[in-house]
Amino acid sequence: MSASKLQEIGRIFREHRRFAVLGHVRPDGDALGSQLALALSLQQLGKEVRIWNEDGMLEKYSFLPRAELLTKPPSAPEDFDVAIALDTAIQNRLGTALPAVRSAKIWINIDHHLSNPGYGDVVYVDPSAPATAEIIFRLINTQSLPFNRDIAENLYAAISTDTGSFQYPQTTADTMEIAAELIRTGLNVGRLNQQLYESYPRRRLELLRELLRTMRFEEEGRVANFTLSLKTAAELGVLPEDNEGLIDHLRAIRGVIVAVFFEELTDGKVRVSMRSKTDAADVCAICQKFGGGGHSLAAGARVVGTLREVEDRVLREVCDKIDSLKTSAASTL
Ligand code: AMP
Ligand code: MN
Ligand code: MN
Repeated sequence: MSASKLQEIGRIFREHRRFAVLGHVRPDGDALGSQLALALSLQQLGKEVRIWNEDGMLEKYSFLPRAELLTKPPSAPEDFDVAIALDTAIQNRLGTALPAVRSAKIWINIDHHLSNPGYGDVVYVDPSAPATAEIIFRLINTQSLPFNRDIAENLYAAISTDTGSFQYPQTTADTMEIAAELIRTGLNVGRLNQQLYESYPRRRLELLRELLRTMRFEEEGRVANFTLSLKTAAELGVLPEDNEGLIDHLRAIRGVIVAVFFEELTDGKVRVSMRSKTDAADVCAICQKFGGGGHSLAAGARVVGTLREVEDRVLREVCDKIDSLKTSAASTL
C-alpha cells in the first residue's frame, strides 16, 4: 500500500507543472529541511516551485543549502496544480501558507505525526518514521527523483534535528542507512553539526538561565516544567526559534518522565510543549485533550488562557496520567 502511494505521488509530480511546497507554523529543522529538499528535487525535475511557510526561513537554519528559496507566503494567493503539506499534523498549522494557495487541483499530505487525521487528496502519513525527511528520502529514492548534495544536506539536517541527533527511539537501522547514503554524497558531517548545534546566539543560553529559574517539579520529580512569559521574552530580546530544544534539558533529568514548557503568546494563548520518556505516558493523547497533537513522546498544543490558568489545567492532566502509572514499571524511569 505504501509503495503504491509513493508511486502515485511520483506520477503526480511528473504529470503536473506548478507546485507549492508548504510546512507548519513555527517551523523546525524537519519542516524546513524537508521543504527545501523536496522543492529542490522538483525544481531539478523542471517544475515551477514555491516554498512557503508562515514564518519564512529562520535565522538559525539560514545556512541550509538554497535556504533563500524558502519565504513567507505573499498576501495575494497564487494558482497551483499541486499543493504539498509537509510535517504538518493538522491543516490549520499551515497558518498563512494555506490561504496563499488557490485552486490547487491536488493536495498531498506527507507527514509522520500520529495525530494527523489524513486531510488532503493523497495522504502518506507514516507515524513510524522518525522524521518527515525520511519519507522524502524514500520518495526520492523509490521514484528516481533528482538527488544531489544540496538535497542530501537538507535531509540530513532534518533527520538529525527530529531524532535528537539520532537518539530517539524511532531511530532505526533504516534511519542510519539513510544517513549513510546522505553522507556518501560528500556532505561534511562535522561542519553541518557545528552549524546545527554549536552556533547558537548567546541569548539562547541567557534564555535557558531564566527558564531554569522558573523550573518546578511535581509528582516526586516525575514531572518537570518551566515557563517563559512575554515580559521575560521581551527583556531578553529572544526570537521564537531560540527555545527549540531547551525542553530537552528537563527531560534529561533522572527520574523525570514528562517535561512541559509553557510559553506565553501575544494572542491570549499559551504554547504548550511536552516531552515524555515512555509511551506509557503518551503526551500526544494529553495534548489532543487541549486541541493539539504530535507524537507519543513529543507533542504540543496552543491553549487559550493566562499562563497561570493553562499551567494549572495542563499540569493537572499530566499529573493525573503520571498518578495512574504509579504502580507500573514506567514510574521508575
Ligand atoms: P514542539 O514541542 O513545538 O517541538 O512540538 C512537538 C511536536 O508536536 C511536533 O512534532 C509538532 O509538530 C507537534 N505539535 C506542536 N504543537 C502542535 C499543535 N498545536 N497541534 C498539533 N501538533 C502540534
Ligand atoms: Mn516539525
Ligand atoms: Mn517532524
